[in-house]
Amino acid sequence: MSVAKSPEKKQDGLSRRLEEETLPVIHRPLAGDIPLAAVLDSLTREGRLYEALPGNTVRCCACGHYCKIKPSKRGICQVRYNLGGKLYVPWGYVSALQCDPVEKKPFYHVYPGSLTLTFGMHGCDLHCPFCQNWDISQTLRDARAGRRPSEISPEEIVELAKKYNARCITSSYNEPLITSEWAKSVFRPAKAAGLTCLYVSNGNITTEVLEYLRPVTVGFNIDLKTMRDRNYRRLGAVLERILEGIAAVHKMGFWLEIVTLLVPGFNDSEAEIRETAQFIKSVSPGIPWHVTAFHPGYKMTGPPPTPAKTVIRAAEIGYEEGLHFVYGGNLPGRVKDYENTYCPNCKAVLVERRCYRVLKNRIGGEGRCPYCTTMIPGIWE
Ligand code: SF4
Repeated sequence: MSVAKSPEKKQDGLSRRLEEETLPVIHRPLAGDIPLAAVLDSLTREGRLYEALPGNTVRCCACGHYCKIKPSKRGICQVRYNLGGKLYVPWGYVSALQCDPVEKKPFYHVYPGSLTLTFGMHGCDLHCPFCQNWDISQTLRDARAGRRPSEISPEEIVELAKKYNARCITSSYNEPLITSEWAKSVFRPAKAAGLTCLYVSNGNITTEVLEYLRPVTVGFNIDLKTMRDRNYRRLGAVLERILEGIAAVHKMGFWLEIVTLLVPGFNDSEAEIRETAQFIKSVSPGIPWHVTAFHPGYKMTGPPPTPAKTVIRAAEIGYEEGLHFVYGGNLPGRVKDYENTYCPNCKAVLVERRCYRVLKNRIGGEGRCPYCTTMIPGIWE
């Protein structure tokens, strides 16, 4: 893997490079009538997660596609491109920026009740028809997608996190793996400021990207969308790679929570839900599993919304299969007590939640159950 020689400094070389290539130079503020592709291509810098190949071709290793990209071509994600034998990657903007309860990501075992400042960029390596953020994830792939980006610096993002008393910073909304160079440039000052840095990812992970992120990133929430390879390929991924990615994240010591969006007729059979739980248990029974409800949208308008009883049954199956922490999501207040955290040993209620709000947190010092002193995995105060 080549490591670019011009790391995270202000991109004063960008204008020069664009002039050399006789492309338009974009300055703040961004004009509304410039094509989005040109705007996004200008908000880039040379990446680090790639390898130079003969013939000015590059091989990107930011996600499991490992695209080989010829000069003047884009990767599958559309937002990383080869210019003159160098890989240029998204830089210096956000498509969305919001301060939310960390439970909304969802992370239930990371500082319960705290806030996280969440940022996203554009593009994705997958093309899920049920994507809730398709207007930023499917940019340059779907003509209807594409919010205008807002330029911002890593330091400005960290300042905003401090201003809003966020405890964490999360890269989410689009797929963060494909914009990992930018995330790391935000996470570095964020970590120095005492913030906890998190990823919400589809799990199409490489060891190269994990090694790259490890110095600054604490936790991952990964979408495990289905246990059927045929279905994963319809979304643009390979099941085996996602399962390997989840195992690697856990093995490398990142904090890990998993989400499965239950889509009626796609992945909600009892057999598949059971297989999903069995796989998670094989990695570790202490990994929290969130089973969440689908709402029709984007290109998947046929299936009905997931009924609460399906979410509740999936949570029951998770516990039957031996997982220690299973949560029902996207139907706040309608999933019985499956928003709470229980001690896996004495069954005491440790964290009471309703509608993403923490009502009570009884987890004691060092993350132990106050009743039986069992260690509860997670990141606690
Ligand atoms: S991040 Fe984009 S360019 Fe890189 S391997 Fe993944 S899809 Fe291809």
